[in-house]
Amino acid sequence: MPKDFLKGASDEYDVVVIGSGLGGMTAANILARDGMKVLLLEQHYKLGGLATWFKRPGGHIFDISLHGFPYGMVKSCRRYWSKEIADSIVQLKGVRFDNPMFSLTTTFDRKDFTNLLTSDFGIEEETVSRFFDTARGMNFYDDQDRTTRDLFEEFFPGREDVVRLLMEPIVYANGSTLEDPALTYGIVFSNFMSKGVFVFQGGTDKLVKSMEKELKANGADVRINCDVEKINVKNDAVESVVVNGRTIRCKAVVSNANLRSTIFNMVGEDHFDNSFVDDAKEVRLNNSSTQVYMAMNPDDTVPRETGDLLFSSTAERFETDLLLSRDITSRTFSFYYPDTRPDKKERTLIVSSTNANFSDWNDMSKEEYEASKQDLIETTFDALEKYVPNCRERIAHVEAATPITFEHYTKHISGASFGTKFEGLAVSRKLPEQVTGLYHAGSCGIIMSGWLGTINYGVIVANDVINQITSASMPA
Ligand SMILES: Cc1cc2nc3c(=O)[nH]c(=O)nc-3n(C[C@H](O)[C@H](O)[C@H](O)COP(=O)(O)OP(=O)(O)OC[C@H]3O[C@@H](n4cnc5c(N)ncnc54)[C@H](O)[C@@H]3O)c2cc1C
Repeated sequence: MPKDFLKGASDEYDVVVIGSGLGGMTAANILARDGMKVLLLEQHYKLGGLATWFKRPGGHIFDISLHGFPYGMVKSCRRYWSKEIADSIVQLKGVRFDNPMFSLTTTFDRKDFTNLLTSDFGIEEETVSRFFDTARGMNFYDDQDRTTRDLFEEFFPGREDVVRLLMEPIVYANGSTLEDPALTYGIVFSNFMSKGVFVFQGGTDKLVKSMEKELKANGADVRINCDVEKINVKNDAVESVVVNGRTIRCKAVVSNANLRSTIFNMVGEDHFDNSFVDDAKEVRLNNSSTQVYMAMNPDDTVPRETGDLLFSSTAERFETDLLLSRDITSRTFSFYYPDTRPDKKERTLIVSSTNANFSDWNDMSKEEYEASKQDLIETTFDALEKYVPNCRERIAHVEAATPITFEHYTKHISGASFGTKFEGLAVSRKLPEQVTGLYHAGSCGIIMSGWLGTINYGVIVANDVINQITSASMPA
């Protein structure tokens, strides 16, 4: 008999959360902490969603999406998780850029960027200051017609080098392009510029295990290997979910799964107004990624000056489309020194990440796909050679992930790494107006993606759910 992953689960909960990405887990934690009866269902055998890791022989652990996040994570983790989690967040000091236009190392904060822009790039201090203030002053209600390209044109006309410095890391951080609304850039860039780039010391495995402990301590029922097939709706309200052959009733569902699969696969378009369905169909998914994971030989390492996060590119010009091309010219290298997991005997690990289009990896024969992955590995070695000489001999283990890999593990349509483009946020927010008790919390709309964005979105949505459930149970 197959194992029953729902053994002992109740037939009814206040809230079912579908998916244990950081957004889903955070929503579940806030709801459970508030006294709601919460069931968290994850289709994979591990919690964390894209915030995940894998182990390989030799004992090393690769992190998938632990390259960096803004300082705001400290506050969010302290408030919505625990002091222990918040206290493990540490700054990455060595952020490097190396491309045909410039090579530099920075702490990636406003002070250091102001110095760089005025001294190395020759921009007037007053312009830099106005640019920072404008970016920081942006919010969700701003004019959405102004694009990031317009913003740069206004402040730094004709300065492709400046645009590259300001934009390249943000393209990696959330897949945004120069054509996206300027406010998506302004909000995310300002979050980073407040204090720099941070990571979780101890690795994603430690983080997710701490979150699981916290969820259980707050009374959430957490289940893995539970793939939700359907969200049942009756009289325009959520009634139950169908999972592993069981129907579980609930007052509300928070879906942390892909926004489009929530609407079209789990609920079904018949339950929404036509105009909402039209808007949902227009939502563009964000791009996907490729990664190459490399473990150095035991006891070999690279000098610390190599950096923690290295934005490297051989492209003469900066174009956001080029960052997605299968003909890769830009890579972000993350160097994980042995102190990433201080309590374990770790090797030095290197992960190369590149934004990618799903379509460049789909529809290949098995042989073509394997050959393409091998090519990705070889070209990554070629690019790494500049920073880690003789890298082919010094790397003991290497493997690659593609958009197909990300789709397989998370069920995100087309392996989307950062949810949806900006328009996805409005559609996500409108779900409960269409179906009472139906919510979505997960990377979407660019500003609500990445570790910090999705955690904060989980909190916002959990509070909406609490309001709905408590107001429904109040006497009229
Ligand atoms: C290669 C890469 C590198 C990244 N690097 C960074 C970084 O350095 N910093 C940063 O801030 N962000 C980074 N990100 C983005 C960040 O990881 C994501 O934005 C964030 O982790 C997504 O969280 P989420 O809550 O949206 O859910 P996800 O992590 O997308 O999780 C959704 C969950 O729902 C589950 N699910 C789906 N369908 C079902 C179903 N039917 N039933 C049950 N469960 C289901 C999935 O299995 C998954 O666990 C990176 C992403 C990628 C791909």
